[in-house]
Amino acid sequence: MSDATKNFTPPTLPFIDGEYRKPAAGRTNPLTNPATEEVIAEVAAADVSEAAAAIESAFNAWQKVWRDLAPGRRAGILFEIARMIRANAEELAVLETTNIGKPISDARDEIELGARVFEYYAGAVSKFYGQTIPVARGGFDFTIRQPMGVVACIVPWNFPFPIASWKVAPALAAGNVVVLKPATLSPLTALKLGELACAAGLPPGVLQVLPGSGSVLGDVLVTHPLIRKVSFTGSTEVGRRIMELAAGDLKRVSLELGGKSPNIVFADSDWKRAADTSPMSVFANTGQDCCARSRVFVERSIFEMFLDRFVDATRHLVVGNPMDTATQIGPLVSASQRESVEEFLDDARHHGSRFVCGGARPQCRGYYLEPTVLTGVGHGDRCWREEIFGPVVCVMPFDDESSMIQEVNASTYGLSGSIWTNDLRRALRVARAVESGVLSINCHNSVHVEAPFGGFKQSGLGRDLGMAAMEGYTELKNVYVAE
Ligand code: NAP
Repeated sequence: MSDATKNFTPPTLPFIDGEYRKPAAGRTNPLTNPATEEVIAEVAAADVSEAAAAIESAFNAWQKVWRDLAPGRRAGILFEIARMIRANAEELAVLETTNIGKPISDARDEIELGARVFEYYAGAVSKFYGQTIPVARGGFDFTIRQPMGVVACIVPWNFPFPIASWKVAPALAAGNVVVLKPATLSPLTALKLGELACAAGLPPGVLQVLPGSGSVLGDVLVTHPLIRKVSFTGSTEVGRRIMELAAGDLKRVSLELGGKSPNIVFADSDWKRAADTSPMSVFANTGQDCCARSRVFVERSIFEMFLDRFVDATRHLVVGNPMDTATQIGPLVSASQRESVEEFLDDARHHGSRFVCGGARPQCRGYYLEPTVLTGVGHGDRCWREEIFGPVVCVMPFDDESSMIQEVNASTYGLSGSIWTNDLRRALRVARAVESGVLSINCHNSVHVEAPFGGFKQSGLGRDLGMAAMEGYTELKNVYVAE
């Protein structure tokens, strides 16, 4: 066993009704450290009947304890969860890095982000108002936002802890109980969150954490009659299936799905800063980022200068051992994820794209792949159209604003993107025209705890974060009192 995993004690059982509980069937999924290719844990998988029992028990906890708990007590527990996350931050960060190969400095930032999310929604509990409405016939009309009941939260492996926090915290703050299903590849910090939340005073059953395969547990999580809402982050393909299944009894769904985000650089911008900072907007998390700016549109007059500088910055990225604090880019999450990215590279070679840098596996253990910059990519090619979810970027010149925007919006996705220009009117015009849920001007920040996050088109529906997320975990009721 390597140094990184020496003192590593991962949770390996589902967390149900306030305790780690061994499933009856004894089926387990092995976890592999992507940096070393060593098996680091065998995590027990819940089966369908255990998932159904966990949902029913969550419903009991909702009816008996959580639904009617005074808002101040609910907020107090959420504040305490944030404190517990911080008190255990290093353990959580090491679990995440060892599990999925994320650089440790990124993992630490993401654990802190999770703590801030719990704090934000703890504070939101007392600021989540209804309205009074001056209806035409007089009397007194007001709205109440009510919790739904049991919410199923299904999360992916690329940002396991923050995305679990984005869903669990607002759902609990709004008065719901949660059944959380982490990805099979990345269950460790979700399980630990269940344990820490209970230690912080969350009553047993209010947060159930069920590791296990989505293809096994997915149907029961989406169709069980006691589930009132499914909050999903993952691929567009699985999101579509969830929406179809949820239609059966018209369950509420929110879907945060894939992306193919643009990074638009005008000649009048501080394009040197854009070139220096843009590599991390696509290669961070080894490109396994729904917001990755994987299509760079550069105004033709600066294209060659921009490309040289972008490639130079890419070559200076530190690829290496994710436990090293200097590392910026770790391995891909799994052997199959790397193979999937390499299929895109084969397609790019086949279609005659130019590999300006990268494109190969470094000579070391682990599922590494060099950050890869492509030009000369056809608008019909897979690398241009599809989400690659790996360290690959296409950089292309454009001549005029309106045809560039047409090409930006030709994507079926619409999640994120950046616009670089020093012309304020152009910045606002382009921001209005681009079909994306989240945009950044002269930077690459997509995520703010306080602001809504989500996509247009096939990037999803509904929003995480901000007060919009909390609204999404409630039903809106109108009450009229006659005069
Ligand atoms: P995925 O394959 O769709 O899996 C996501 C989650 O869904 C996992 O927990 C998975 O479980 C589960 N699942 C699989 N099949 C299911 C089914 N039939 N019913 C219910 N749940 C099922 O996605 P991924 O590969 O983990 O993540 C990558 C994708 O997520 C990318 O497309 C990325 O863009 C997207 N993403 C979007 C956002 C956003 O906010 N928009 C953020 C992060 C990632 P198993 O692991 O057991 O299969």
